[in-house]
Amino acid sequence: MVVSEVKPDVGLEYPGTWQQFRAWFGDEQACIDYLEQLRWPDGFRCPKCSGEKGWRLSDGRWSCAGCASKVSVTAGTIFDGSRVPLADWFTAIWFITNQKYGVSALGLQRLLGLGSYRTAWTMLRKLREAMVGPGRGRLQGTVEVDETYLGGIERGTRGRGTECKFMVAIAIEVLSPKGFGRVRLKRIEDGSAHSLTAFVEYAAELGSTICTDGWKGYAGLAKEGYEHHAVNISASGDPAHVAMPGIPKIASLLKRWLLGTHQGSVTAVHLDAYLDEFAFRFNRRKSRRRGMLFYRLLENAVVTKPKRFRPSRASLMPSKHNL
Ligand SMILES: [Zn+2]
Repeated sequence: MVVSEVKPDVGLEYPGTWQQFRAWFGDEQACIDYLEQLRWPDGFRCPKCSGEKGWRLSDGRWSCAGCASKVSVTAGTIFDGSRVPLADWFTAIWFITNQKYGVSALGLQRLLGLGSYRTAWTMLRKLREAMVGPGRGRLQGTVEVDETYLGGIERGTRGRGTECKFMVAIAIEVLSPKGFGRVRLKRIEDGSAHSLTAFVEYAAELGSTICTDGWKGYAGLAKEGYEHHAVNISASGDPAHVAMPGIPKIASLLKRWLLGTHQGSVTAVHLDAYLDEFAFRFNRRKSRRRGMLFYRLLENAVVTKPKRFRPSRASLMPSKHNL
């Protein structure tokens, strides 16, 4: 196996171009080395006994001197148990973070020359999970909250889609004097106080100022420990986009993105993952270097516990609704 000559300084340098990416991660060993530096910046650490002494085995794993565990650098990460080489995972992460609209499962299958659509689909599913990350903080300061509807397709038993709509709650940080910070989005069952309060608790820190319209579903927020600022839009005389400018902007970006990448039609289970991907991209829109996004996603990927996920047959059909 050829070992890459170029050793990037993990966390300080990010690949800037595809050429640089290829030079850094040209073979499997280079990817393993990079992951090891990311996971164990101060050297090997056993996940079982926290021992710091160990040696590398010929198959790439580490043997712990303390408890004799055989440890793979991918253990406990989203790459755990995957038969896809790390080099292909790295390439997938590079493309998902470098394409403006991300990459579809079909596109990824072609790009990596994968034998099965299911493999590509599962990789994307895991990467979207990593986009959420384990330690993601909630929004703070002044936060606009509102709901919007998105069109979707639910598959019937005969594979025929039935039109339906999903309600999506949106929260966005409003920065002063102007501009916007991070977003959180989530599919909600309905516009009830129960659903909306649960969303605000998911999206924003207690004590934040939550700006909403006058809908009664938001009336209980002050009781839950938020500063609640309800804008009575009809009484103020301002149209909604003047009173709360962030939400319509996000809603239209989201719809355009879904339309561009996913033809606007998604199933409920996909939508949740797409909303996380949208937030990941939007929240890092000011990153000047795309390589930084690559690094952030990889960083999340090594601390995101692998989840067993059994996709439905319908969701594995490479149709325009399951891109
Ligand atoms: Zn150990």
